[in-house]
Parts: sequence; C-alpha cells; structure tokens
Amino acid sequence: MRTSIDGASQVLRPPADGLPFLRHDRAASLRSDPGSLTIDGEEILAVESDAGAARRIDARGLAVVPGWVDCHTHLPFTGWRAAEYAMKVAGRDYAEIAAAGGGIQASAGALAEADDRGVLDQAEALAAEMLAHGTTTFETKSGYGLSIEAELRSLRLAAALGGQVPQSVSNTALIAHAVPGGFDADGWLDAVEASLGAMLECAPVGALDVFVESIAFTNRHLERVGALAAARALDLRAHVEQFASHRSVPVALAAGARSVDHLACLAPVDLPALADSECAAVLLPGAEVMGAEETAPARALADAGAIAVLATDANPGTSPIISMPLILGLAVRRYGWTAKEALLAATLNPAWVLRRSGEVGSLEVGKRADVLVLDGPIEQVPYRLGHNPVAFAFKSGELVFARPDCADRLSE
Ligand SMILES: [Zn+2]
Repeated sequence: MRTSIDGASQVLRPPADGLPFLRHDRAASLRSDPGSLTIDGEEILAVESDAGAARRIDARGLAVVPGWVDCHTHLPFTGWRAAEYAMKVAGRDYAEIAAAGGGIQASAGALAEADDRGVLDQAEALAAEMLAHGTTTFETKSGYGLSIEAELRSLRLAAALGGQVPQSVSNTALIAHAVPGGFDADGWLDAVEASLGAMLECAPVGALDVFVESIAFTNRHLERVGALAAARALDLRAHVEQFASHRSVPVALAAGARSVDHLACLAPVDLPALADSECAAVLLPGAEVMGAEETAPARALADAGAIAVLATDANPGTSPIISMPLILGLAVRRYGWTAKEALLAATLNPAWVLRRSGEVGSLEVGKRADVLVLDGPIEQVPYRLGHNPVAFAFKSGELVFARPDCADRLSE
C-alpha cells in the first residue's frame, strides 16, 4: 500500500544522501524543513506527497523522523531486579551488589529457571513496548547464560526473538560479561573460544562484546575478544570505562572496535583518538542516571567530531529503560546537547554501529520505510521528558503503531 504523509512541519533529513554516518560536530547540518513523505511497499518512494496514495496521514504541525535504532540492549533477559535498585539507591555499589549474589549472576539464575516460552514472552512484550516508543531496529546480547550451554540457549532465544518481532534485530554475542563460577577469566575465554563455532550457529551474530571492569574482564581480555572477532570477521563491541577508567579505549581502537560503549569515565587523554576514529562512542545516559554514574564527556565528544550514539542499554540491572525518547531527553539535559544531536545519535549513527546505515537510519528515497510521525516538533522530544511523542510508526512500510488520539489524522 502507498502512504502519503502530508504537510509535516518538519521532516528530518541528512545533509546529503548516502552518508554512512554523520560526525557529531556536523549534527546542525541535519535538515528539518517542512515537507511530506511517500512510502511505497517497504521503501521510501519520495520526499514529497503523492496525490494517488491509498493511505494518507495529515501531518500538519507534526514532525517526521526515521525510526529509532537502539544499538545496545540486553534483550532477551528474564525477570527484573527492583530490589537491587533499592539497594543501589540506598548507597550500595555495583561490586557490593554483585558480591551479595545480585547483578548479572541474578539474571543468569532467572534465565536458567525460566522456560523458553517465558523468556520469549517477556522479550516480545518489551519489543512491543519499544516499537510503541518508536524503536524499529534493535540489538540483542547474550551474556546472561554464564555457562556454555546457557549461552548457546541465549543466542538461540535471541534468534527466535528476531524472527517473531516486527523490528529488524541484530545479535551480539556478549561472550565476556561476568566470570562464571568455577572459571577464572582466562579459563572462561578458553571455553568460549572452543565453543565459538557452535555459538555462531545458534544465531546470525554480527559482533562479539566484552565487559571490561574490575568486577569483570581486563584490557588483556578485550584484546583477546578482539582477536576472536577479527578471526571470524565479526565486529568488536566493548563495555568500557563505566565505573572507573581502565584506559580501555586505546586498546579497543587498536583492536578495530566498531563501538565503545558507556564511557562515563573516559580518560580525557583518550578522547581525541576516539573522536577521530570510525569507532562509535555509544553513550548510555539511562544507566548513568539509574546508577548515579559519572557523566560521559558527551559534549566534548560531539565537539571533537566523534560518531556519537545513544542507546537504552535495556537490561534488568543497570538500565531497565526501553524508551528512546526518554533517553534522548536525558542526553540533552545531561550532556548539553541539542535536539538534533540527540536525534542523530538515535538514528543514522547507531545504524552505522549495526552495519545497517545503508538500509535504515535516515529518510532517503530507496531506504527502508522505518518512519515515525511525532506529535509535535522535534525540539519537544527531549523537552517533554517522559512523554511518548510517537503518533504513528511504520516498519518497512507497514503501519505498526498508531496512537488512538491521533486516529483522525489517518485516512484510507
Ligand atoms: Zn550493556
């Protein structure tokens, strides 16, 4: 079916077509002029209205933007950890909570107890909630298995999730998340290496990931995961500099990382090389707020021309947040960013991280029609913190979400 979205106050467009990413010092070059958009089949047909379209949306006063790309989530997981959040708010730190049997171990236990249907039911419900908030592409991670068998199952569940939700899904094998009982870190990576072929048969995996922290793995393990990724032609992603500075960014860059994620404690000396590279700086302000973490140097990264990205880090421990609009709002307030900087970090640049920027992440003729119609101007997305601005969401041209109070704008 052909859809014409007519007369929007703003259509968010890149400064040129075909850009694989846009460095953040150029975010102001995103265009937000009035306009229209036509969708035909799965693709964007034109950045103008179509008189013959069978379906029309009256977008006067509204904004049209690309669907959000959430490139860092920990779906599929099971259960929640609200009691730990209460401990955290009361002043206990991550290491204390982990030592008390909480943290990643708690989610591994919950995953082990749940049957496949229970895990998928929760993940599918979260994916639906994400879609209603405008997320049309997201990433999954394994890492709550903590045994080889459970990691294989986790990857199978991620693949099953991808087959059952409307979104495009990219799978990451978080092979070094926490050191399982009975192993030291090197021994666990030996076991992972021996099983990596089997893991990669469980799901279409695009990247390997590692958590570098005093309670987890070291820069030496980051190098090793990087070598495993390179040998399999997979991308390297890394959780780094979250709670303390370990100077992991130069190690990740040397290993050819596609992204470094968190960066709340990024050492200032490591910022210029990151900003100059094609490795994305994935910032997770939800985790920063929920964990009372340091603030990533996001203003400086943007000014230095980094490929900056925002994501939810949706997980039951450090960031039980699925809403990208909320993340954009937190980022603007916390980082001193403009609305356009936040929108860029939620669309084209995360698509680059997932190697999907040729397909999604910007409104261009021929790209997949992952399109949101927002209920007001783009500047209201960060400003109306906690509000869901999504009036209509299209995934690959299909209308997958329509807010009841906006129904009178739709005619077919
Ligand atoms: Zn994470």
